[in-house]
Amino acid sequence: MNNNVTMEKIVNLCKNRGIIFQGSEIYGGMGNTWDYGPIGVEIKNNIKKAWWKRFVQESENSFGVDAAILMNARVWDASGHTTSFSDPKMDCRECKTRHRADNLIENYCSKHKIDGIVPDKMSNEEMEVFINEHKIACPVCGKHNFTNIRQFKLMFETSRGVTDDNTDKIYLRPETAQGEFVNFLNVQRSMRAKIPFGIAQIGKAFRNEITPGNFIFRTIEFEQMEHQWFCKEGTDEKYYEEFKQKAFEFLTSIGFNSEHLRFKDHDKLAFYARAACDIQYLYPMGWQELNGIHNRTNHDLSHHQEFSGKNMLYMDPVTNEKYIPYVVEYSIGADRLMLAVLCEAYDEETLENGEVRTIMHLAPCLAPYKACVLPLMKKNHSEKAKELHKQLCKDFMCDYDESGSIGKRYRRQDEIGTPYCITIDEDTLEKGTVTIRERDSMEQVTIKAEDVKQYINDRIKY
Ligand code: ATP
Repeated sequence: MNNNVTMEKIVNLCKNRGIIFQGSEIYGGMGNTWDYGPIGVEIKNNIKKAWWKRFVQESENSFGVDAAILMNARVWDASGHTTSFSDPKMDCRECKTRHRADNLIENYCSKHKIDGIVPDKMSNEEMEVFINEHKIACPVCGKHNFTNIRQFKLMFETSRGVTDDNTDKIYLRPETAQGEFVNFLNVQRSMRAKIPFGIAQIGKAFRNEITPGNFIFRTIEFEQMEHQWFCKEGTDEKYYEEFKQKAFEFLTSIGFNSEHLRFKDHDKLAFYARAACDIQYLYPMGWQELNGIHNRTNHDLSHHQEFSGKNMLYMDPVTNEKYIPYVVEYSIGADRLMLAVLCEAYDEETLENGEVRTIMHLAPCLAPYKACVLPLMKKNHSEKAKELHKQLCKDFMCDYDESGSIGKRYRRQDEIGTPYCITIDEDTLEKGTVTIRERDSMEQVTIKAEDVKQYINDRIKY
């Protein structure tokens, strides 16, 4: 990550270059919803593809599912979400803004370098006392005049049924994980899966967050990429460590500098959990959670057994032993990862002539366009260039740009992270060669036009 990167620069680039727009913008927006534009959807799809490759395709004994967003409401009773998925909320009486009490304390302690205060371990009363004793101010208006803490439910509710007296409350899922748990038996049986095995899913989740913000870091609608690893008790600790490493390596494999990542153990574990940690990324606003890894014991499947009445016991085909599997969960937000990818790739380079070029050093596998074809002179070279562009589009996302000076066209591609620019010129017409310019080094090589497809395909693989 470049030291100059700020959230403002990322947001502006995203807006101007078709990466991410404000949701429902022409109606004045809809708070904390974002729409991915033509460039953004490519990057996000590439992130999801790389994740799926690593966690399903290349992972022995891992299977994908795509479960429904709307689930039987009992699922959320079993998971504990209907009773305990809430955050401690305080309203500022002065400016009417809403805040999370735990965040107010965390931010205050980090600003005043106070160690040893862990809001996760405090009761609501203890948090209120701390906030009042330290006269913690509202981050928006600077005054200290909060309401008492109230628990704020994070699940979005809706209802099914056509008449008012025939409504059943249902929920927009707040996590994808339950889709994997409720399909444990289906996947195990239909795929003849043997423990240990994994179920992965990518899908939308919804949370009525109290304090969404920081662009796509915390939104009310987002995508999660989750992988549940079902294993036998006793092997869970080993797999937990393995998943920590795998999660870290995935991030470095898509271009992260390991110095911008760190593990952070959870201060407080859920009563059923054996271990839990996050990988944090150094965002422009500081170290923040990027993904979580949890050793959830057999809590989830046991609860689904209890609430659904379905037997979740696995029978080991060799030893005939019966047990409810343990789960090591790995979970990452696709949008939060997208933001980290953009921050990590963003750079401003001062060139020899003093000009500053904005560049996205995206790993080629994540780049929205893998190449762009540029006719040197529109009049003379566009026909040949369009021909090549059409051919390349059959293999990968390829852009075409014939307007403006070649330098300006390079800059436009640098800004969206296109790794290769292919220039068509007189030599192409006379000798059948093209010039390929690499984004980061700006070095140019001349190769035969018929070799371009192979040249690029070799360099964009994940
Ligand atoms: P946080 O502490 O930031 O609220 P969490 O611990 O509640 O996150 P999990 O329930 O573990 O998050 O969700 C797994 C992952 O989903 C997170 O690591 C994050 O990448 C992503 N995620 C969670 N909430 C949001 C959100 N509101 N917006 C975007 N991504 C999210």
